[in-house]
Amino acid sequence: MKLIVARTAGFCMGVRRAVEMTLEAVDSCDKPICTFGPLIHNPQVLNLLSQKGISVIETVPPRGHGTVLLRAHGVPPRVKAALVNAGFRVVDATCPRVIKVQTIIRRHAAEGYGTIIIGDRNHPEVVGLLGYAGARGCVVGSVKELAALPRFTKAIVVAQTTQNTAFYGEVKDWVGRNCPHYQVFDTICDSTEKRQTEVKQLAEAVDAVVVVGGHNSGNTNRLAEIARKAGKPTQQVETEAELDCQVLAAARSVAVCAGASTPDWMIRRVIQVLASLGAEDDRPSSGPQDGPARSAEKG
Ligand code: SF4
Repeated sequence: MKLIVARTAGFCMGVRRAVEMTLEAVDSCDKPICTFGPLIHNPQVLNLLSQKGISVIETVPPRGHGTVLLRAHGVPPRVKAALVNAGFRVVDATCPRVIKVQTIIRRHAAEGYGTIIIGDRNHPEVVGLLGYAGARGCVVGSVKELAALPRFTKAIVVAQTTQNTAFYGEVKDWVGRNCPHYQVFDTICDSTEKRQTEVKQLAEAVDAVVVVGGHNSGNTNRLAEIARKAGKPTQQVETEAELDCQVLAAARSVAVCAGASTPDWMIRRVIQVLASLGAEDDRPSSGPQDGPARSAEKG
C-alpha cells in the first residue's frame, strides 16, 4: 500500500504558537491559568492541557485572578477589556493573521464602512471579528444571504481565515457584479488555502483519504468535504481507533491529511495503524514536513 502524508498536515503557525504560549505560561505566569474558551478544537490536546492544570473559562467572571490566555481565534475587544477589568493578567495568543483581519475591520469601521464577514456566525473567530466592526457589522454564510443584505454606501468584505477558497471566489464574483464599490480583502489564511489545495490534489491521486482532526474542528470538516467532493472514500477520524481498517486495507494508495488543530503525535498514531496494514511511514521524526508530500510503498 502506498501511503502519502500531506505536507501541510498538522498544526498551523497560529495554533502552534498558541499551544506553545499556553504551555510556557505554566512555568512563567501567575496561577491559576486558564484559556478563554477551549484553546483549539481538539479534545486530545485539551486533555493534555487539563492534566497540566490549565482550565477553561467560557464567560468573564465579575472578579478573577491568575492568567487568562486568549486563543488563536481572538476575542471581541470588549471581552479582552472585561478580563483585564476583572483582575486577570491577559496573555493574547491571537494568531497574527487574525489580528491583521481585526485591524482591517477596526480601521474601516472607524471611517464609517460597513463590514461584511463571510463566515460562520457562531465561530469564535467570527464573533471576535464582529466585535471590531461596530454597529455596521454583519455575518453571512452564503451568496444568498449576501444578496439579501441591505446595500451599504461603502463597505468592506472579509472572510473568516479558514473559509473555503472556492466559496469566497463565488462571493467575490457576486460583489464584482452587484456591488463593485465594496472593497474585498483576501483574508483567507494561505495555510488554509495550501492545505485545501493539497487535499484536493492528493484525493484525486489516491484510492482513499484519511482526514485526522477534531470532529468539532471546522477546518478539519472542510478538508473531509473537499476529499469527498473529489469522489474518493474519505474517513474523518479524531483518533486511530476510529479508522475503518477493513476498507483501508483494500486501497492501493491512501493519503493522510490533518486539520490545523491536529497535533503531530495524533497523526503519527494514525500512520502507525496504516503501517500495520502494509504502508510505511517515512515522515521525519520532528513534526510536520516542510517539503513536498512524501510517499512510501511496501508490498
Ligand atoms: S489557520 Fe491561519 S489564521 Fe488561522 S490560526 Fe492558523 S495560521 Fe492563524
